[in-house]
Amino acid sequence: MPQEELGYVELEWTCQNCGTRNPGSRKNCASCGAAMHAQTQFELPAQPELVKDHPAADAAGPDVACPYCGTRNAGNATVCKQCGGDLKGAQARMAGGILGAFDAAPQAAIQCAACGTQNPATALKCSSCGARLPRPKTQTAAVTPAAAPAPSIPRAWLIGGIAVALVLCIGVMLLVFRTSDTRATVNDVNWQRTIAIMALMPVRDATWQDQLPTDANVLGCELKDRRYSDVAEPNSKKICGTPYVIDQGDGFGKTVQDCQYLVQAPYCTFTRLQWTVTDTVAARGADLNPYWPALTLQDQQREGNRAEDFRVEFVSGNQRYTYNPATAQEFAKYQIGSQWILKVNALGSVVEATRAE
Ligand SMILES: [Zn+2]
Ligand SMILES: [Zn+2]
Ligand SMILES: [Zn+2]
Repeated sequence: MPQEELGYVELEWTCQNCGTRNPGSRKNCASCGAAMHAQTQFELPAQPELVKDHPAADAAGPDVACPYCGTRNAGNATVCKQCGGDLKGAQARMAGGILGAFDAAPQAAIQCAACGTQNPATALKCSSCGARLPRPKTQTAAVTPAAAPAPSIPRAWLIGGIAVALVLCIGVMLLVFRTSDTRATVNDVNWQRTIAIMALMPVRDATWQDQLPTDANVLGCELKDRRYSDVAEPNSKKICGTPYVIDQGDGFGKTVQDCQYLVQAPYCTFTRLQWTVTDTVAARGADLNPYWPALTLQDQQREGNRAEDFRVEFVSGNQRYTYNPATAQEFAKYQIGSQWILKVNALGSVVEATRAE
């Protein structure tokens, strides 16, 4: 995702010796004069002020810490300004860390604990009495929220669940596969045969304009969000994330935001002629001689799927059973009044029928 530079902000650091907050550009504490330690971190000020270009005209990358006295020196310095030691091979400050979200919204004033004066959020010291001001707790906006851990199912529950499912499965299989023999008489027979009639009909659909079928009759198009791009394109709009500040290691932070372009494209509704079932002809009977219904096709029509359904009703005492033979050939055997041995499962379905002697 392309990163866009918005400008620079001056950071601040808190003196490890006396607790005074200092502007990032200062290498020594304004109160006690102590040099900023290599381990002391830069922080985002409560009210960061954005400037377009790096405020230090001779920006030379992360500052370095003197290997002899620890003093913070500019990245391009060759000797320590404190002790005069050689800075060749000196450790550079860590840079590139994300310090937090950039928030330009006006922050509440800070009250001085010593004299009660209200000071602007940018102040490091009280304007009336000069007392140190605490760092306001405002920089809490997270740049990248941590992913929530997936809820875990206790192992014992999982095993229990599988066991219950297994028992239920076996139970259903027993009901379906355990059969009992019943002697029954054919009481009634029914059949039905159908043929679908199809015609070319306009069917409504929608797709991207560049994917329209050649025979589409377009009804209308409108722009819709389609994809993201790293560069500006026709019909695109820029979408940027929350600006955030990256530590430069020299007392300043670079404010950036990640941006992409949401590209829109014409999305069209259209109709297209497709073979569609428009009608069905059916023949029905209560005998053992099924036939197909007469079919007269009009211009622009064609035959669709054929379907058949056979039904035999048995009686055994006051119990009735229904059976569906698969073919007309099998159906023809079930003469009314004939005797059969039925294999019936626990759900009451006829699984098999054999002619009784
Ligand atoms: Zn200090
Ligand atoms: Zn030094
Ligand atoms: Zn004060």
